[in-house]
Amino acid sequence: MEKSQSLHYYREIMNHSRDIILILRTDGTIIDANDTAVKSYGYSLPELKALTFEDLRAPAARPLAALQSHTAISTKIFSETNHRRKDGSIFPVEVTSHRLIFAVENLFINIIRDITEHIQIRKSLCQELENIKKIQQELLIKNLTLERLASTDRLTGLGNRRHFETIMLGELERTNRYHLPLSLILLDIDYFKHFNDNYGHQTGDDILIIVTSLIQEQLRTSDVFARWGGDEFIILLPNTNTQAALQTAEKIRGIIEACKVSPAEAVTLSLGVAEYIENEMISAWIKRADTALYLAKKSGRNSVKTAV
Ligand code: GH3
Ligand code: MG
Repeated sequence: MEKSQSLHYYREIMNHSRDIILILRTDGTIIDANDTAVKSYGYSLPELKALTFEDLRAPAARPLAALQSHTAISTKIFSETNHRRKDGSIFPVEVTSHRLIFAVENLFINIIRDITEHIQIRKSLCQELENIKKIQQELLIKNLTLERLASTDRLTGLGNRRHFETIMLGELERTNRYHLPLSLILLDIDYFKHFNDNYGHQTGDDILIIVTSLIQEQLRTSDVFARWGGDEFIILLPNTNTQAALQTAEKIRGIIEACKVSPAEAVTLSLGVAEYIENEMISAWIKRADTALYLAKKSGRNSVKTAV
């Protein structure tokens, strides 16, 4: 290829590039630049040729840039930095620098891409990501709150029936696997309707709150105490046999009887105890606890009975 033809191609390639192209000596002097360079920096070609690559860097970018230009001797570099136009305005760029292998003297070709738009997109994506993270966090908190609300009895703060049944399934699995004893106490406030009727619904509510908090104090952290419905409550006692469950039930009965829950009349409880029998249906087990509770009521209330 003729030298003049090569030069023509070279100029064509240079000027068709949307990226800035600078041809540099090893000392950073600019010996050629394309049209995009002229447009982007605002310098004419002769003005650019009077500058060094260092002169195009934004002041803050200089220390890093100096280091990079040193390492640029044999390697290609992709770096993000800031360049400065003739009018002093700064714009972000990505610089790719490599040696021109066929050059007679050691030259470098620096291809510089204006990444203003890219940075803006990146910033807005980061912002979006932050927003998504915030929304996710809020959703997580809302879900946890909903889950808590869905499993909690509003009046007493205890778990509700649904929550209890879920925990119970897990405990049963453990019991069946390790053959540990597991007991239930089903308890009900005696003549509770009477308190409502004579002292008002609010007093009834207060009694429910006081009674449940007194019971909670008597339980181990591993015990699961829940509102079964109305004035009826249930306690699951892991690793507890009939004998120990009876003792706990009796302790609860005694404490509620002794405490002045209602200033007017003593509040008492009836309690039914049932220990789990391996491979028994849950419904059958609860039924046995319910039968024991019925027996306690029938025997005159304020008492504890066990299921057969
Ligand atoms: P027993 O000794 O046979 O258990 O008699 P009881 O009066 O306790 O039994 P009954 O089931 O007839 O009455 C329970 C009452 O509990 C009826 C219902 O209005 C009341 N109750 C249920 N839930 C609440 C509540 O959240 N707050 C109040 N204040 N009362 C409730
Ligand atoms: Mg009752």
